[in-house]
Amino acid sequence: MSFNKLGLSAPILKAIEDQGYTEPSAIQAQAIPAILEGQDVMAAAQTGTGKTAGFTLPLLEILSKGENAQSNQVRALVLTPTRELAAQVAESVKNYGQHLSLKSTVVFGGVKINPQMMALRRGADILIATPGRMMDLYNQKAVRFDKLEILVLDEADRMLDMGFIHDIKKILAILPKKRQNLLFSATFSPEIRQLAKGLVNNPIEISVTPRNATAVSVEQWLHPVDKKRKTELLIQLIADGRWDQALVFSRTKHGANKITKQLEDAGIRASAIHGNKSQGARTRALSDFKEGRIRILVATDIAARGLDIEQLPHVVNFDLPDVAEDYVHRIGRTGRAGATGKAISLVAADELDQLRAIERLTQKLIERRYEDDFMPTHMLPDTTLDTRPIKPNKPKRPREQTNAPRQGNGAKQGNAPKSGNRRPSAPKAEMTPGQGLRSKPLAPARRNRKPD
Ligand code: AMP
Repeated sequence: MSFNKLGLSAPILKAIEDQGYTEPSAIQAQAIPAILEGQDVMAAAQTGTGKTAGFTLPLLEILSKGENAQSNQVRALVLTPTRELAAQVAESVKNYGQHLSLKSTVVFGGVKINPQMMALRRGADILIATPGRMMDLYNQKAVRFDKLEILVLDEADRMLDMGFIHDIKKILAILPKKRQNLLFSATFSPEIRQLAKGLVNNPIEISVTPRNATAVSVEQWLHPVDKKRKTELLIQLIADGRWDQALVFSRTKHGANKITKQLEDAGIRASAIHGNKSQGARTRALSDFKEGRIRILVATDIAARGLDIEQLPHVVNFDLPDVAEDYVHRIGRTGRAGATGKAISLVAADELDQLRAIERLTQKLIERRYEDDFMPTHMLPDTTLDTRPIKPNKPKRPREQTNAPRQGNGAKQGNAPKSGNRRPSAPKAEMTPGQGLRSKPLAPARRNRKPD
């Protein structure tokens, strides 16, 4: 399969070539022709599948055929759950559209609104936005949608998890009824299908989640350890295993800061990324990590979601997440595209409930490995596999309350995920983010450029 066959024109094919892509990924091969035909699309695809180009390339193609945007009017709106994802999508739009005359801009909360208003006034064919800031701009009459042709919801499941459903509904209400809708989500949960009902018309459904669980190999184990000795054990694992880099997950923002400081004190270069960090600090931490200037990135679940980080050999669950599905997302950060990754959990006796929930979700007991010097004084009780089906919509509320970017007055972005919006289990499928793509990361200065 070649990009030439998909119906894209020369300036876009040139940009694809500039990126060094030789053939379309599975999602691209399926989504691009359907979108070019004007179909609504519902695609189940995770980060790493090439989904961004899957919607961006045909979107650019369609827009390049029409009239350019007028002041404060946009022709395509891409909504993303987080600032980082918005910035990444915006960068992709710039790269893939570099030989076209279309204009794009990105808006998200946590930075000044005025420059964003000015950019919109200059006209933008494509607006990439997080929902809260987009509503702020709309309420301030900085943006209008009379000319809107295409709406993209990226990582729709995460948007629901983060409690954006009301913002999304408000946004849908202000858009012209006649438009093309593209819905991207890691899974098609009942909640996503519900959302889709009021959104897409007769969509083409695409799923690039592989059917079997062997496509990706992630070696998983846990170290039973006393809570207060976790950092010490982590430092030993990093040193003994000579790890180049690892992504360490903390359940709380405070925890992420503390782990980072302790690693730094032990001479291990680390940075934290979470919702209380300024946009600049988050961008810097991410680019430092991508460039190898720091060895350990300590992240909370919400901050890490959707980050386009190269495949990592090690993912560490410093704490088990309160929501079992987050474990699956976390370990999906390693072992992409056929390589073996390691997902290591440090588990204290008081995390037994979370462990049971994860094992029930994944239908797999996690192997226990005891470290001689870290035998816990509080033993982690044995678990048995609970094979009863999981009822949807009964998750625990995650502890981290404010990791989502804050998006101005009245915006929902600072809220914790709504407990009712959690995905029900689809463990096998979610465990295997297959067909992942590897490509060298973009230069961080460009990728993370602030909005105009
Ligand atoms: P995404 O799933 O959109 O986050 O993309 C994951 C990575 O795959 C990004 O770094 C893209 O630059 C890269 N990518 C997208 N399409 C292709 C392709 N056809 N061939 C190689 N790499 C690609």
